[in-house]
Amino acid sequence: MEIKNVLVVDPLKGEFVGDVLWEEGIVRKVTPKGASTFDNILMPGFVDPHTHGCFGIDTMSIDDEKLERWERFLYTQGVTSFIPTTISAKKEDMIRVSNMIEEYVYKKSKTSVVGVHYEGPYININKRGAQNPSAIREATSREMEEILSPHVKLITMAPELKGFYDVLPLLKENGTVVSIGHSDANFEEIRQAFLNGVNRITHFPNALKGFHHRELGGSGAGLYFDFTLEMIVDGIHLDPNFVKLIYRLKGAERISLITDSISAAALEDGEYELGGLKVNVLEGKATLQDGTLAGSTLLFSKAVKNFKKFTDCSLKELAMVSSYNSAMNLNIQKIGRIEEGYLANFVLLDKELNVLETYLYGEKVYQR
Ligand code: FE
Repeated sequence: MEIKNVLVVDPLKGEFVGDVLWEEGIVRKVTPKGASTFDNILMPGFVDPHTHGCFGIDTMSIDDEKLERWERFLYTQGVTSFIPTTISAKKEDMIRVSNMIEEYVYKKSKTSVVGVHYEGPYININKRGAQNPSAIREATSREMEEILSPHVKLITMAPELKGFYDVLPLLKENGTVVSIGHSDANFEEIRQAFLNGVNRITHFPNALKGFHHRELGGSGAGLYFDFTLEMIVDGIHLDPNFVKLIYRLKGAERISLITDSISAAALEDGEYELGGLKVNVLEGKATLQDGTLAGSTLLFSKAVKNFKKFTDCSLKELAMVSSYNSAMNLNIQKIGRIEEGYLANFVLLDKELNVLETYLYGEKVYQR
């Protein structure tokens, strides 16, 4: 199959008008044409490494049918890779969800589900955000051995907690990327984690120690060290000026867009649930009873548009923050570029960045 006369956006080569040819789900040829007019924009399919659900679906209660519906809904957003994300829970529940996802991926020959992201429970109770305090605990090697499997791609943990350095070698060995989050660690504690190979921060700087000029905290450390920063660019979790500031300071190379969406995303305002806690959604803003933000109702295509609007970045940079950086940071092979040998996972957008079509392994899985 071939798409002709599109503005190809590759995170490394940049933007050029051309044709893209693929066979059996793999890009075979990208031909620049030296033209300046084009119909639509072709970007690598979006990657969302941190989402708890949407459209009434919640990671903690998924089954095959719900996961498939979730996947199909995300095609409408241009998402061709995502990592269902758990919330602090009992060990048995984590294992159940993880096994379910593993079997699902095994059964499907083509899927956008990449693995599982454990957000908690090994996090700081003082920075729990909307995580249920009754499930939060310290990590032990024994429990970690039970909950890990090769498809656990990502885990959000607080490095200042007891047990963190005991389990770090296990996570490394398993190929699980550790992301600092829901953490009250100070600058020095974050520095230690960074020196021990941790290079990612979860929904920066939400649920981290704030920035102070005499104690930079997790917020300052995230800027100081070469971390990849997850950001929720919904205009609620972060002021648009803050997004622009981080873009200026860190560059697009170090930002990964996430939605952190909950089951209420793509649904009406109302009452929902997250990890056993009641969540109220008003004008798209999800909060606990006490006003604490409880995930988002952000959809990925909106996050992409917002980032472009807030920062005025190039399309090449937009491809970095929406797919390439996540693929690189999480070691997901063969995605995140439009280049020979890469998977034909694309999103076709109009000039206003509305999703027109989505391709997974070369197959058109969504058309507006
Ligand atoms: Fe969180």
